[in-house]
Amino acid sequence: SATPATLSAISNGAKNGVLFKGGTAMEALSKMNMLFSDKTGTLTYGKFHVVDYHVAEEILREVVYMEQQSSHPIAEAIVTRFNNLNLESVDQTESVEEIVGFGIRKGNIKVGKPSAFDGFNDVHNYRSKQAEGNTTVLIGNGKEIVGYISLADRVREESAHAVASFQEEGVQVTLLTGDNEKVARNVAKEVGIDNYVASCLPEDKINYVNRSQEKNKVVGMIGDGINDAPALANADIGIAMGSGSSVAMESSDVVIVENNLAKLFYSFKLSHRLNRIIV
Ligand code: ADP
Ligand code: MG
Repeated sequence: SATPATLSAISNGAKNGVLFKGGTAMEALSKMNMLFSDKTGTLTYGKFHVVDYHVAEEILREVVYMEQQSSHPIAEAIVTRFNNLNLESVDQTESVEEIVGFGIRKGNIKVGKPSAFDGFNDVHNYRSKQAEGNTTVLIGNGKEIVGYISLADRVREESAHAVASFQEEGVQVTLLTGDNEKVARNVAKEVGIDNYVASCLPEDKINYVNRSQEKNKVVGMIGDGINDAPALANADIGIAMGSGSSVAMESSDVVIVENNLAKLFYSFKLSHRLNRIIV
């Protein structure tokens, strides 16, 4: 059971917007020396806007209908941008299936990351869209690629400073993202992270966590998405953004209510003071 000092640290954390699910989480945080971070919604606001697109309106209506069934930040941006479209022509009897970390599908129509279209003849024509450094989703009809939507997001104001603070305390920070290489590199550079992995699947995120644990690192994982949940559950300390999906919050040990990484750093410092009290 938690000591009075731990309880007081937990309550201090809560006042500061960082919710610990127990004393063990506080103690694990104090020993953390490796932190993996998701990108979208974690280091960035996860508020995309459409910057460019090319697709026939008939298909676009399908895409908007499909994305209405998803809570992914990309889906929200697409639904918002094209909310003027009339969706009456869309066959709503056909089911919509979301493939976590890839995209979404309805019948023959698939919307998702470019690597979900490997094997399509014309994928290289659209891959170059990514070279522009935006997050690009492709639209396929089962036979060929029929369009794309490019979106941009912004790095959170506090991310770079918070990352630097952890690094100064000896915590190695690595970015793990399902997004493409160019976007991953740009965001890593902007927030001051040297190590990044692009095009990560949810299972890749778990593997990075597990491999670091095998090297006796005390591993934190911070994320907000359904795709992060397995890695959050596997880490020594899983940290979810308060704006994240409920699955991410349920799989984590700590929730940052206001999504501010600086507050996590404050709790990290607090947990060190706690260790000194115990010893
Ligand atoms: P991250 O690790 O950056 O949070 P995700 O693993 O959630 O990213 O998603 C990885 C990629 O999968 C996105 O960049 C996007 O290309 C694609 N994707 C995921 N969900 C959707 C969706 N609902 N609609 C379109 N594309 C999606
Ligand atoms: Mg995310």
